[in-house]
Amino acid sequence: MSDHSVATGQISELKKKLETAIKSRSRLEEGFNRQSSQLIQFIAKLSHVCKGIDLELDNKLANFRNLLTKSAPLAEIEIQINVVSKLLLKFASKNDSNIKELHQQFHAAGKILQKINGLPNQLRRDLRALLAENSDGKETVIQYVPPLTQLVTLYEAALKAKIDLKPEEITTQLTEKNENSASDQSDHQITTNVDHRILSKFSCLLDELSLSEGQSKQLVFIKNTLTKDISQQELIDCFIKTFDLVLLNLQNERETAESFLSSLSKTLSTVQSAVKSTLNIHDKSQKEYKKLNAQLQEQMQDVTSAVKKAASLSDIKEDINNKLQSIASTIELKAQLENKSQHSLAKQLQTMTTQIDFLEKQSKDFEIRLREQQRKSMQDALTKLNNRAAFDEHFAKEMVYHHQKDLELAIAVIDIDDFKRINDTYGHTAGDKTLQVIAKTMKVVIPKAAFIARYGGEEFVIIYRKTKKETLVKSLDTLREKIASLPFKFKKDKVTITLSIGVTHIKSEDNIHLAFERADKGLYQAKSSGKNKVIYLA
Ligand code: GH3
Ligand code: MG
Ligand code: MG
Repeated sequence: MSDHSVATGQISELKKKLETAIKSRSRLEEGFNRQSSQLIQFIAKLSHVCKGIDLELDNKLANFRNLLTKSAPLAEIEIQINVVSKLLLKFASKNDSNIKELHQQFHAAGKILQKINGLPNQLRRDLRALLAENSDGKETVIQYVPPLTQLVTLYEAALKAKIDLKPEEITTQLTEKNENSASDQSDHQITTNVDHRILSKFSCLLDELSLSEGQSKQLVFIKNTLTKDISQQELIDCFIKTFDLVLLNLQNERETAESFLSSLSKTLSTVQSAVKSTLNIHDKSQKEYKKLNAQLQEQMQDVTSAVKKAASLSDIKEDINNKLQSIASTIELKAQLENKSQHSLAKQLQTMTTQIDFLEKQSKDFEIRLREQQRKSMQDALTKLNNRAAFDEHFAKEMVYHHQKDLELAIAVIDIDDFKRINDTYGHTAGDKTLQVIAKTMKVVIPKAAFIARYGGEEFVIIYRKTKKETLVKSLDTLREKIASLPFKFKKDKVTITLSIGVTHIKSEDNIHLAFERADKGLYQAKSSGKNKVIYLA
C-alpha cells in the first residue's frame, strides 16, 4: 500500500467524521433555535400578562420583546433584562402595598355595609362570615376577586332590601350603570346625601309658603325632615309632598272662595226676600190697621150718637157698656196685629243677622290670610327681617316724604366681612345661623324707629329718619362693636365676625340710586381700608 493511498483513506475517513460532526452540530443548532424561539414566545406572552399594570414597565417590556424578535445581540438583550428586572422588583413591592390597600378597602366596605340599619338577618350573617373568612391578607390581587364579587352581591341585596325594588329592577339598574353614565347618576341618587345648601334653600322657601292650618302642620313635618341627613330620593319625596300640599291648598282656597261667594249670594237673597216680605207684611198690616181704625172710628161715632139719642142715663149705661166692649176688642185685635208683625219682623231680622255674622267671619278669615301672605311676601324667610322688596317700597316712600320736608334721611349699607370663609370652612348651615344671629343683634341694637332689611346674601341696609351724623355713626359703631364681640363658635373654633358699613345722608338732589351708590361707596372704602369699619360719606 503506497503512502498515497494511505493518505487518501485517512482523508476520506476524516471527511466522514467532519460531515457527521457538521450534521450533529446543525441538529444541535436547530434544537437550540427551536428552544430559544419557544423561550422568546413564552417571555413575550409572560410580558403581555403584566401589561397595563405600570406604563413604564409596559414600555420596557415592549422594547424587550422587540429585541428578542429581532434576534438582537445578546449584550443589548442583557441590558434590557437588567432594566426590566429592576422595574419588576419595584413593581413587586408596589404590588404588596396594593394588596394591603385592597385588603383594607374590602374590610372597610364590609364594615360600612354592616353599619346600615334594617338589613335582613341572613344578609348580616353572610356578611359577617365573608369578612371572617377573609380576615387574613392574601398574596395576590387576583385572590381578592371572589370575595369582592361576593361583597358586591351583598351590596346589591342590601340595596334591594333598602329601596324595596323588585329584583329585575335592581338588575336593570346595575347593568345600565355599566353601559350608561346617566343611570350611574340614578344609582347615585339613592345613596348620596343631599347638599345642605339645597336643604336650607328649600327650607327657606317652605317658610315663605302661607298655607291653611292643617296643611301648615304637614309643612312643619316636611321641614323637620329637611333638618336630617336625607338622600336625594327622600328630597324628591319632600318636593312632591310640598307640591301636593300647595295644590291641595289652592284647591281649598278655591273651594273656600266659592263657598264664600255662594254664602254671600245666599245672604243677599235672604236679605232681599226678607226686605220684600217685610214690605208685604207692612203693606198687609197697613191695610188691616186702616180697617181696624175705620172700625174704631165707627164704633166711637156709634157711642157718640147713642149718647146724643139717649133719654136717660140708665138707658145709655148698658148700650155704652156693650159698645165699649166691642171697642176694647177692636183695640185688642190691633195690638195682636202689631205683635204679630213685630214678631215676624224680628224673626226676619234674626235670620239676616245670622247670615251676615257668618259672612263677616268669612271675610275676616280672608283678610287675615291675605295680610299674612302680604307680610310673608315682604319678609326674608331666613332672618325674618324685611326683604329687598320691602326695602325698595319703604325707601321709595321715605324719599318722597324727604323731598317734601327734609327728614334727615340716612341710608347705611352693611356687608359681613369674609363671610365666604365661614361657609367654606364650617358649612352653609353655619353661615345661615350666623346670618340669623346678626339679624337678631341688629334688631336689638339699632333704634326701633330705623328700618332694617336684608338686601340680599350677606348684605343688609338700614334707613334712619331724623338722625344726625354723630348719632348715626355712633349707632352703627355700636352695632359693629357688638357683632365683633359676639362669641361665635363653630366646630370648637372661636370665630370673630365683623361688619363693614358705608353710610350717608340723603341730599335734596339725590335719587334712590345716587343715595344708595354713595353709601355703597362708603362700604367699599371700609372694605379696602381693612374692614370692620364704619365710613360716613357726606
Ligand atoms: P368680603 O369681606 O369682601 O365681603 O368677603 P366675603 O367673603 O364676605 O364676600 P363674597 O361676596 O366673596 O362672599 C359672600 C358669600 O356669602 C358668598 C355666598 O356663598 C355667601 N352667601 C350669600 N347668601 C347666603 C346665604 O343665604 N346663606 C349662606 N350660608 N351664605 C350665603
Ligand atoms: Mg357681599
Ligand atoms: Mg361680605
